[in-house]
Amino acid sequence: MRNAWALRIRDGDARALARAATGIENRDREALDVLRELAPFAGHARIVGITGPPGAGKSTLIDSLAAAIRERKKTVAVLAVDPSSRVTGGAILGDRIRMQQHHADPGIFIRSMATRGEAGGLARATADVARLMDRAGKDYVLIETVGAGQDEIDISELAQITVVVLVPGMGDDVQVIKAGIMEIASIFVINKADQPGADRVEQELHAALGLASGTEPPVIRTVATEGSGVAELLDAIEKEEPEKTGALRSCASDLRAGVAIDHLGIAVESLATTIPFYESLGLQVGRRETVTSEKVNVAMLPAADARIELLEPSAPDSPISHFLTKRGPGLHHLALRVPDLNAAVEQLRTSGVRLLNEPRAGAGGHIYVFVHPASTGGVLLELIQESK
Ligand code: ZN
Repeated sequence: MRNAWALRIRDGDARALARAATGIENRDREALDVLRELAPFAGHARIVGITGPPGAGKSTLIDSLAAAIRERKKTVAVLAVDPSSRVTGGAILGDRIRMQQHHADPGIFIRSMATRGEAGGLARATADVARLMDRAGKDYVLIETVGAGQDEIDISELAQITVVVLVPGMGDDVQVIKAGIMEIASIFVINKADQPGADRVEQELHAALGLASGTEPPVIRTVATEGSGVAELLDAIEKEEPEKTGALRSCASDLRAGVAIDHLGIAVESLATTIPFYESLGLQVGRRETVTSEKVNVAMLPAADARIELLEPSAPDSPISHFLTKRGPGLHHLALRVPDLNAAVEQLRTSGVRLLNEPRAGAGGHIYVFVHPASTGGVLLELIQESK
């Protein structure tokens, strides 16, 4: 690591970390460089999404949970996502109030994530700040969102474990339970469990869960204001197998692990005259097709671990025609297979790499994106994710 700022973050400098979080929220180039510099450390933290209706006591529960995590000598970052509040001159009032409780504990980082106007900005900022906390070495990242109806953040995308918080007194209003959060819950919490109606909520929950197939997630009762049940909740979180579906998968080390050469694309004047050469080497055409949108005839020849893709123009105005006129026949592109294309795309965007298209679906059901040669050492690069 050459970046001094990144080094300070890894050394546990809380102010350097806070400054990086602010910079990332503001899409500051230098701060995004820090995030990239820290990429090798990705994948350490357990990312826990905590969601539920307003009034479920999520903030209190998260404060208690953070305290329980600290008791176990682990570090934690709390990101409170609030789509209704806007940033006004830096810090948000809630931050200051919450920070006071954990004052002077460098093992807890708290940040309120507020809307910045731009569509999708909050989701992107939250994901990137969560990545920062992970790469900074935090053991837990707790992300608080308001469930049901708040579409701006898809917590199940971001978190490895999703805790859904319910409370007594929701009455017959199981809408909250039904509104799509049933499916994403890894753990249910019935908070304020000392209040009348806790049994009823649990019954309704089990009834609703009974209708769904598969194994029931754990249901834990808490009284967050007294801290009761919170240790059990932390135990349940520790026991959960973290799903690898979160945005955190975009860490560079994960990406590297699964990358393979998928194929080499070669622009040719004529498939008919080129294919016999490769056949004479023992390769065989596995698939032939015409991609009308790209105006190209394609012949795929599988080799042991990769494939050769011969590309012949199917129309005079085909991009392959232009390539042949400009450069002559030859290597047109290199295609790498990645385990998670969307994650790779985010990583590349963070790094300022120029992409030639949004990820889109190809004929084989795979998704792909092209990267400009300016970033790749001079060759057009195709990134592919096979369909599952
Ligand atoms: Zn290709």
